[in-house]
Amino acid sequence: MGTSAAFFLARRGITVTLIDPNAIGAGATTASFGNIRRTGRFLPQLPLAHRSRALWGQAKDLLGRDVEFRATGHLRLIFDAASHADMRRFADAAAPWGLSLEELDAADLRRRFPGLGADAISASFSPQDGSANPRLVGPAFADAAARIGARILPHTKVHGIARTDSGFAVQTSRGTLESAVLLNCVGAWGKAIAAQFGEDVPLTMHGPQMGVTEPLPHRVLPVVGMWSQEIGAYLRQVERGNIVFGGGVARTPVDPQTGHAKADPQLLRTQLKTVVRLLPALRDVAVIRQWSGCEGYVADDLPVMGPSGTTPGLFHAFGFCGHGFQLGPGVGDAMAELIATGTCETPLAPFDIKRFAP
Ligand SMILES: Cc1cc2nc3c(=O)[nH]c(=O)nc-3n(C[C@H](O)[C@H](O)[C@H](O)COP(=O)(O)OP(=O)(O)OC[C@H]3O[C@@H](n4cnc5c(N)ncnc54)[C@H](O)[C@@H]3O)c2cc1C
Repeated sequence: MGTSAAFFLARRGITVTLIDPNAIGAGATTASFGNIRRTGRFLPQLPLAHRSRALWGQAKDLLGRDVEFRATGHLRLIFDAASHADMRRFADAAAPWGLSLEELDAADLRRRFPGLGADAISASFSPQDGSANPRLVGPAFADAAARIGARILPHTKVHGIARTDSGFAVQTSRGTLESAVLLNCVGAWGKAIAAQFGEDVPLTMHGPQMGVTEPLPHRVLPVVGMWSQEIGAYLRQVERGNIVFGGGVARTPVDPQTGHAKADPQLLRTQLKTVVRLLPALRDVAVIRQWSGCEGYVADDLPVMGPSGTTPGLFHAFGFCGHGFQLGPGVGDAMAELIATGTCETPLAPFDIKRFAP
């Protein structure tokens, strides 16, 4: 969110400095599965997701670099009647919001996507969705922002933030930086900054559990997920051939002191039982690595975006609840529009921090 906001603010001619105590793109973003998925989203979030999807399509031109965005489609398999009913309800409700899902019966599924979901009874398919490389995106936005004038300060500790007559003074390990506007886009750590300004957000830090297999011949083009009454799993095959997977088990808690999320090897066996339903051929494949990442989950599963409720000049964009990779370009663009013009053509009201005000 920070790198894309810096880019879109700089494009509007605004002087912007991005401060990060770590390397750029080393937070939740780099740990992400990389799913660019609109299926299953909270419906009032779809305008923001559409804005973001349009930007993903322009990413190579905007950033001057291939961040491996591929519109391979997002396939969601269905294994039982209740999940089929959920899919139908979502598809009907999402159509007026501009998202149309194809419904595939078992025969369509076997014909178009052989080898996936041997016991699936149907599926939904969102042809314009897909994935991108989470390791490339943050640095690519930061480099593109720097080329058009943004100041990027990685490895810069923030010691404190004070109000001044004209805005904010941020005390950092590189000195004090003054600005009229402050955008709090520090992911899972956003709660602490909001609290400094009297805004309490019910956010907890958790780590979704991810894994990757050895490389295999390339056979799976779309991102594959599942409609499920339980915790669904998902996978995609990267171009090098490895299958990246996640879901199927509860997220693990993260120590708020360190913010380090660790994958739990004990959960792998349970996770693979669900993952293998998506792609039975995985039964004979070796998993070579597991990882996790620290993500901020807000109690109502929606992010916090928009102006502060207490402090003029302060804006928030944090707590993306495991759905923020897809939204990143759109969030940066929307926040830049809001900061530059005072309004945003994309409705942000459901994400207003004031929903938690006493
Ligand atoms: C394992 C995993 C898988 C995921 N898979 C998907 C997916 O497939 N699709 C999807 O849409 N979403 C996914 N998500 C969610 C998505 O990755 C996040 O919602 C998104 O990357 C959040 O971006 P962010 O910029 O808000 O936070 P981050 O990427 O965490 O960036 C926050 C930055 O703030 C910095 N920071 C911390 N404290 C301060 C401070 N005081 N001052 C300044 N900077 C600070 C950090 O160093 C960090 O660089 C996944 C998340 C995880 C963890």
